[in-house]
This record gives sequence, C-alpha cells and structure tokens, in this order.
Amino acid sequence: MNAGAKKELVLIGGGHAHALVLEAFARRPEPGVRLTVISEGRFAAYSGRVPAWLAGKCTLADTQIDLAALCRRAGARLIEQRATAFSAETREVTLAGGERLGFDAASINVGATLYKPETAAQAPNVLALRPLAKLPSRWQALCARVDALPAGSRQSVVSVGGGAAGCETLLAVLAALRARRSDVRFDGALISGGQTLLPDAGRLPRALLARALKKADVTLRTGVRVSELGEEAVMLEQGAPVPADIVLWATGAIGHGWLKESDLALNERGFIEVGKSLEARGAPGVFAAGDGAAFTPALPKAGVYAVRMGPPLAANLRRACRGEAPKDWRPPRRVLSLIGTGDGRAVASYGPLGAAGRWAWRLKERIDGRFIARFNPDPKR
Ligand SMILES: Cc1cc2nc3c(=O)[nH]c(=O)nc-3n(C[C@H](O)[C@H](O)[C@H](O)COP(=O)(O)OP(=O)(O)OC[C@H]3O[C@@H](n4cnc5c(N)ncnc54)[C@H](O)[C@@H]3O)c2cc1C
Repeated sequence: MNAGAKKELVLIGGGHAHALVLEAFARRPEPGVRLTVISEGRFAAYSGRVPAWLAGKCTLADTQIDLAALCRRAGARLIEQRATAFSAETREVTLAGGERLGFDAASINVGATLYKPETAAQAPNVLALRPLAKLPSRWQALCARVDALPAGSRQSVVSVGGGAAGCETLLAVLAALRARRSDVRFDGALISGGQTLLPDAGRLPRALLARALKKADVTLRTGVRVSELGEEAVMLEQGAPVPADIVLWATGAIGHGWLKESDLALNERGFIEVGKSLEARGAPGVFAAGDGAAFTPALPKAGVYAVRMGPPLAANLRRACRGEAPKDWRPPRRVLSLIGTGDGRAVASYGPLGAAGRWAWRLKERIDGRFIARFNPDPKR
C-alpha cells in the first residue's frame, strides 16, 4: 500500500455486529479509511423478529435491516454478492462473481449455517431456520400446502432442536397454522438431542418454557437424535420414527463451508477462532464476530452477543486501520433473553432467573422494534 493511500477496510457479511460497526462509522467516520461491505443482499434478516413474523404479528420488512441505507449513512460501498473465498495471507476476499478484493483490515460476520441431513435440503415439508433469507419463500409455499388440506385432516409439526430458536419458532408456527386452519388438527412435537431444552439457560426459564410447550400441546422428546428425514416421518438414531408432515429444522449450527478453504484457524464446528479482541487467531488485522466467531470461553450462539460485539469490534477495526494494537473485549456475564411462546406471552431468562407473561412479550416487541427502527429510519420502504 502507498503511504498516504486510503486503508481498505472490508466487512464481510451483514450480520448484527457489522450493523453496529456501520452505525458507529456513520456517527463518526474514520479519516483515511475506505469502507466496503460484502453482503448476499441489501437486506439482512433480524432473527429476533422472525417468530413474530411467522405468527403474523409483524411485516417482513419489520424483520429486516436495510443494509443499503445503513451503508449510505456510513459512506460505505455495498457489494451485493456472496464472499466465496478468503486469504489472510494474501489479504484478499473472493466474490461469487470471481472478482477479488484486497484489504488492509477485514472483519467476517456471516453468522452460521445448519447441518442438515442430505434428504432435508430440498424437501418441501422442511422449514430450515438457516439461511433466514430463504425462510419467507419456504414459509409461503408451506402455507399454500396447508391451505389445500381437506377439512378435518391432521398434521404433525415437528421441530428438531431444543434451543431457543427451535422452541420459539415451533410455538409461533403452531399458533399461526392453528389460526389459519381451525378445521385442521396440528399436533406439535419437539425433538432435542440434548437432555434439556435451552442448554444455556437456568432451571427456572427452562421449566417455564416446558410449561408453555405443554400448554400448546407439544410432545417433548429429549436426549434423542434425528438421523434422517423421511417424507412423512423423522427417523431417530434409536427408536421408532416420529410422524412428521411439517419439519422445522433448527439444530446443529456450523460454520459456512467456504471458510474451510481459507487460511483462518477454525474450531471443530467450523467457526473462526478469535482472541479476546475478536481478532482471528494468527491473522493480524482480520476480525470475526457473531455466531461465526469461536470465542473462549464459548458464548451462546445468540444475536444479543453479536450485537454486543459490534461497538468493541468497530473500535478495534479503527485501531487496525491506524496500525494500533486491538483491545480486549469482555463479554457480559449474562444477557436477557426473551422467548415468545406464540400466545401473546414470552419467557424472560436472565442467568438463573426466569419469569413469563404478557409483559415479557410486550418488552420483546419494544426492544426488537427499537432495534429495527434504529437501522431503518424510513418505515415507508
Ligand atoms: C428463528 C430464530 C430466532 C432467533 N431469535 C433470537 C432471539 O430472539 N434473540 C437472540 O439473541 N438470538 C436469536 N436467534 C439467534 C440469532 O439469530 C443469531 O445468534 C444471530 O443472527 C447471529 O448474528 P450474526 O451477526 O452472527 O449473523 P447473522 O444474523 O446470521 O447475519 C449474517 C449475515 O451474513 C450474510 N452472509 C452469510 N454468508 C455470507 C457470505 N458468504 N457472503 C456475504 N454475506 C454472507 C447473511 O446473509 C446474513 O445477512 C434466533 C435464531 C433464529 C434462527
């Protein structure tokens, strides 16, 4: 790089941490830095609102961050393409169209993908919770199938995965389908490989969520692993198949495949190993954040952590561009998590503490609504 030339800072992925980085750069531009964002699309999904959207309680726009508008505010160039390769050594990122982009500093915030059995990829009855960008069209197709069911029929809706997303989405989907077709019976079931639901939460929030699942007539199967998805059933590693007309696939978060070909250090699940400053191990000037980063000690894969990483990441990216050493970030010991239960209520979980009620749902709506409004000041789009 020429002395005096602008430093090239490249953000790969429009994840939550990068939304906060862009907001920080919009507020205080960094002199001498050219900012580029590589994102699959001009909108980035905000998962916290996805269950509310599935339940028909908000619009699709309410679940999306307008990245293009955010980039304009931050003076950043937006490249609407997927990144397909990355080299920390040659300091290049390759785009789906084949173009290569050099950088001085880079950050990767591309979230996670889900491990799915081969048979799940295209099956019309499977609603995979990743990638979120594909969810709207899959959900619409599923609703069209449900609309065509004869009155008096019966459908099994099975969610695979006992984390917050799997439980919350199952409850939202059941509420939506039951409201849509009151003349069809929808039986809910939740299968989890772990022995407990919400592995990162305390006993009380877990019990409150189990109670909400019971109230919604959901049959719980914990400690059981799914081996395959059939046309009308979910096969288990042990035991009889579970009938399943509709499957929500919400388990097995792993890193994106293309990162395996990069020279970055990955953990056993394919996530980028980062130090306390969020700098990738052995790759100075390259950072990773959100679900795709493997922090030590391991953090829950939750959007709230990706959001918290945003401001320290922005500060460290500025430091990297100035040639200064990055500073360590200390994650919060516990965070508030609000899990909608599809009945106008939510379970609030904060470390060992838990509570449930309509107030928790209203609080979730308020927090999520403010979050989206912060990035999408123009509600008319
Ligand atoms: C249904 C559901 C509900 C959830 N509810 C909550 C909740 O209420 N609270 C909570 O804390 N967590 C929740 N989670 C978890 C939360 O979604 C994730 O932890 C969070 O989205 C991770 O944020 P991120 O910034 O790492 O990545 P993401 O939000 O996944 O964003 C990554 C972005 O990168 C883009 N991208 C991916 N690959 C590429 C590529 N190769 N090139 C360019 N761009 C790319 C994607 O399109 C996406 O826009 C939920 C998850 C689901 C599935």
